[in-house]
Amino acid sequence: MTPRYTAITTPLPELYQTSKLGMNTLALTEDFKRYFGIYLGQDKGCASGHYLYSAMAHTLRDRLFERMKNTKHTYAESKCKQAYYLSMEFLMGRATGNAALNLGIEEPLKKALVNLGLEYEELAEFEHDAGLGNGGLGRLAACFIDSCATLQLPVTGYGLRYEYGMFQQKIENGRQQEMPDHWLRDGNPWELERPEFTQRVKFGGHTELRRNTSGQMEIQWVDTNDVLAVPYDLPIPGYQNGTVNRLRLWKAAATDEFNLEDFNAGSYTEAVAAKNEAENISMVLYPNDASENGKELRLRQQYFLASASLQDILDYWVNTHGEDFENFADKNVFQLNDTHPTVAVAELMRLLMDEHQLGWDKAWKITSTTMAYTNHTLLPEALERWPANLFGRLLPRILEIIYEINARFLREVANHWPGDKERLARMSIIEEGAQQQVRMAHLAIVGSFSVNGVAALHSELLKKGLFEDFYQLWPEKFNNKTNGVTQRRWMAWCNPVLSKLITETIGDKWITRLSELQNLAPLAHDKDFQKSWHEAKFENKKRLAALVEKDCGVTFNPEAMFDIQVKRIHEYKRQLLNVLHVIHLYDQIKRGHTEGLPKRCVLFGGKAAPGYLMAKQIIKLINNVAEVVNNDPDANDWLKVVFFPNYQVSVMEVICPAADLSEQISTAGKEASGTGNMKFMMNGAITIGTLDGANIEIREEVGDDNFFLFGLSEEEVAEKRGSYNPQAIIENDADLKRVVDLLKGGHFNQFEPGCFDNIIHAFTSPHDPWMTVADFRSYIDAQHLAGQAYLDKERWTSMSIINAAQSGKFSTDRTMDEYNQDIWKLEKIAPHPDS
Ligand SMILES: *Cc1c(COP(=O)(O)O)cnc(C)c1O
Repeated sequence: MTPRYTAITTPLPELYQTSKLGMNTLALTEDFKRYFGIYLGQDKGCASGHYLYSAMAHTLRDRLFERMKNTKHTYAESKCKQAYYLSMEFLMGRATGNAALNLGIEEPLKKALVNLGLEYEELAEFEHDAGLGNGGLGRLAACFIDSCATLQLPVTGYGLRYEYGMFQQKIENGRQQEMPDHWLRDGNPWELERPEFTQRVKFGGHTELRRNTSGQMEIQWVDTNDVLAVPYDLPIPGYQNGTVNRLRLWKAAATDEFNLEDFNAGSYTEAVAAKNEAENISMVLYPNDASENGKELRLRQQYFLASASLQDILDYWVNTHGEDFENFADKNVFQLNDTHPTVAVAELMRLLMDEHQLGWDKAWKITSTTMAYTNHTLLPEALERWPANLFGRLLPRILEIIYEINARFLREVANHWPGDKERLARMSIIEEGAQQQVRMAHLAIVGSFSVNGVAALHSELLKKGLFEDFYQLWPEKFNNKTNGVTQRRWMAWCNPVLSKLITETIGDKWITRLSELQNLAPLAHDKDFQKSWHEAKFENKKRLAALVEKDCGVTFNPEAMFDIQVKRIHEYKRQLLNVLHVIHLYDQIKRGHTEGLPKRCVLFGGKAAPGYLMAKQIIKLINNVAEVVNNDPDANDWLKVVFFPNYQVSVMEVICPAADLSEQISTAGKEASGTGNMKFMMNGAITIGTLDGANIEIREEVGDDNFFLFGLSEEEVAEKRGSYNPQAIIENDADLKRVVDLLKGGHFNQFEPGCFDNIIHAFTSPHDPWMTVADFRSYIDAQHLAGQAYLDKERWTSMSIINAAQSGKFSTDRTMDEYNQDIWKLEKIAPHPDS
């Protein structure tokens, strides 16, 4: 049998060239009908909206793929330097709206559908979110590659094509239930399988010193269990500029030999089981945000991503340059999204030495000048460490290389600080102890020429704390790149009402240059503009209220203040502090203290890691408090509370345009940056927040008058440790005392005695690392000020306008420009108009 992907002998040079696809209503209508009627085989009896969505998606996809091919050819011909963004997570959400916006065919597409008796918004709801990430880190990767395409930077994303993405969250009796997210079940029109670029990834086996064919001794990694990596390409369109970059996601597949051996031995079931084991690698996303996973399968996933991606890039290099790696570092740069893909440092060494015969020094020169590392967290529980024996069993050759990297590195440290044994132990890539551990962050720093944090405070804390020794050794490696979000998705697409008003007022340049929004600032006090702004926000609040009614059965009054906290559920993010405020408000209302209070609708949303019990109990508490408040006629006018289930990108697209108050209330020094805070600000919400992460920079941009600041600073938090006495604080604060007494008295869990004891114990303990009680009074006071400001509609609207107007810094277009200028140094390159 002929292998499927070998070339045939007849050359067909013109075959891949087709005439360009039309972008008008007529062309889109014709394609839609052809996809629906012929490709999908549907007729007038079709009852499923899925097929209508699918026909629409295929129509758009063709137009993306032709530009993706064109962009690839342009990069290849120009031989430009390229960057590769390696990430275990890409939280993409839905593709349809973004594709239509960036192709510039929203209007003709909608018209085409109307002509066919269809409505765009209705079909778009059939798309499943691509939930290949946990939260901020994965969404950041998605915003980054969006901005790179719009800036026409030659950047390719590399990730894993998880069969099951982030779990779907259901709430039953107030508790989180996890459901599998089989997002590929109905097919995925946005991907293109490229089996001809399949790679082979090694696991297990052992290393041997052998003589190679040219008589030299070399190390070989043998007797391995190999797994195939099959790439799937997703188009990443720039904004109306012809560029469509690529996100390449790897799927694991069993090798043929693997199966053959067992099949030949007659062990059919064992063969199928072996196949399963291989394919398990890309089966499921680990649902832990900001905490270590520590499982063997996770390390397999990490190596699978690193190895397949680097082999792919090296194959491309060898195809275009042969085995000459002299200029490789001038033409390639890798950005590591956290330590998750850091095994790439050792894997690139292995590939260059073992597969391409470079010596150590040349290989190291290339590796250490092409790798760049982004740190995303200061939480110690999130720092990745792998037991050396697990590492050695799974990746013996890689562990040898890590030991050698470490030996050479420690010699450098010893030269720099002669006799400083403690420092050697602190800095070593290998942590000694009962069992040796590989410290991935140390490997990342040693192997990279750039190390960055994701907000100004975070980058400073890295230099002063976690990575202090490394900063002293290599200060020049350290830099800051404050995060951002893409305004195409997080404003132009998700907030059409406000976008229209903005564009009518200042033109549409803000879509690719967000600092243009500054031109709105002079209008912050203009009565007519305020009225239009308020009306736009009101529309968006009605849209969210309808969704809350549908999914939670709770009525939100769009006149009320929408007070919103959506993000992963984590103790450091302090949803608990927000709940304490809600209970305080309830207490005030019950006592008749309602003068000066605005009506409020409080919305919570977010997923808890399935094994994180405290986070799950916090979800239960929110739901129980909501149940009591929403069913109390005394509270009805004043306060509504919901926990919105299954928070994901497509939900945030409805939530952030409707927010009045953005809750960014983490313990200072714990949130590296945050990006939810930026989405809210851009859409005209006002932040109530601590001096943490990018909140600090948001406050700098809007000024103290347009931000509700509260809480201890990072230094004050550090200072208080050891002398923290929450019991005394509670005793001295009558409001807090009543809140705690309501909780302790079981007011919110009358039929489930004791179910919040854990939580009460945690936040009243002197060892509470999140110091919730310490910030209670200043939070309540800031909330009170926010409430008063809301009652003054003009004042609030002007604050809202100023927040949006000053959000220019928080575009990932700015972030990517900085990565490029300081780290990647790529030339922007526009695709040929015709090829
Ligand atoms: C933006 C976003 C996040 C990150 O939110 P933070 O408030 O920065 O933690 C998480 N999940 C989704 C779905 C998002 O869109």
